Amino acid sequence: MSARHAEIAGGGIAGLSLATMLARAGWSVRVHERSPAIREAGAGIYMRNNSLEILDEYGVLDRLAALGTQIHQTQMRGAHGELRQTFHLTGPARTFVFPRQALVDVLADAARDAGVEITLDSEAVGTDPGGVLILANGTRLRADLIVAADGFRSRLRDAVIPGARQWELKTIVNRHFIAGRDLTPDEMSIQYWSGQRRVGVAPCGSHTYVYTNFPNTLPRAGTLPLDLADWGAAFPGLQRELAVIAAAPTTQYNYIMVDCPRWTAGRLAIIGDAAHGLPPTLGQGAGLSIMNARALTLALDRRGSIEDALHYWEQQVRFISDATQKWSCRYDSFTRDLPEMLRFLRPAAFWCFRHFPALNNRMRIADRGLALTALHP
Ligand code: FAD
Repeated sequence: MSARHAEIAGGGIAGLSLATMLARAGWSVRVHERSPAIREAGAGIYMRNNSLEILDEYGVLDRLAALGTQIHQTQMRGAHGELRQTFHLTGPARTFVFPRQALVDVLADAARDAGVEITLDSEAVGTDPGGVLILANGTRLRADLIVAADGFRSRLRDAVIPGARQWELKTIVNRHFIAGRDLTPDEMSIQYWSGQRRVGVAPCGSHTYVYTNFPNTLPRAGTLPLDLADWGAAFPGLQRELAVIAAAPTTQYNYIMVDCPRWTAGRLAIIGDAAHGLPPTLGQGAGLSIMNARALTLALDRRGSIEDALHYWEQQVRFISDATQKWSCRYDSFTRDLPEMLRFLRPAAFWCFRHFPALNNRMRIADRGLALTALHP
């Protein structure tokens, strides 16, 4: 019997992960990436235990670990640098920070090693859910499985799923990538809070990854390079750090959300940000993408028909992504919208979430991964 064949639109974290997993399961797989290279913005990315376990299963965690940093604890600090809380990152909270480009490079190498064909400059413009991917040059490619892994503005999703939508939230985030570890000699991440803003600092291999976020109602906060007078007034204890951060390469984004009423249509599966784009507050966008890709390969292995497998997959795993989207938005709102007179409650709220499993397991449901579903490897 000839191998089943998949055509995947999108060579990001979701598309490359799924491609490797399908190829290792005996599929023939082609990935279409519209850009001329597999490329990510220069920044770091936090990966939690749910995706680390899967990267380990596929033999790529060792390669990545050498390029990133395992974070053993995280601290919450105030605007003057004063320590409020320390949490240990073990068990389901195990966390690494990787350079984004290293992550996609390692995923692309793993895909090619598994026999995946990665086609660059290849843009998908449509699909027939009966099993056809349509490219910008007019080519129609037949496959047993079509995958929309084309990011949060997914063109394939919007063409096929009625009611699907994506929008920007009111929070803006800058990602700064700093050569060297002067700000992060220890294997520890720190979140500094001030009013409606946060500054997150983490070691990331030979670099330091920093994010600065703020609501779009503070126009001076969005100036690039950072307005040191404005940020220095918000974080008086971080003058040295802010000067280093302002000099580093920076990219700016809006937080986003995706509402995708169904993840499947016929032989089409929607995966990654195209299915569950969410604010990055819990560090789970890529984690969910990798986890859902693993679950999809298991569903395809266990169910006879493609349509049945896709339906089963969504039914089994979707609740984790839905809950994570909700909690990521709540976390964002907690930074941005909490009235000034209630902000003193933040450390207490964090303490409660970290120390009461019933709360933590709800907010960080994704950390426990596929063990919560019938699609556990
Ligand atoms: P994308 O990364 O968007 O990849 C889609 C790919 O498809 C792109 O390469 C694009 O060029 C290609 N493409 C698009 N359209 C087409 C087309 N028509 N045809 C062919 N190719 C196409 N997640 C975490 O887990 N941890 C974090 O710490 C974290 N931090 C984040 C910080 C910020 C500021 C942001 C914005 C996100 C963060 N995320 C984080 C989320 C994470 O980056 C995403 O969830 C993840 O990158 C989604 O991967 P994806 O492959 O679904 O989409």
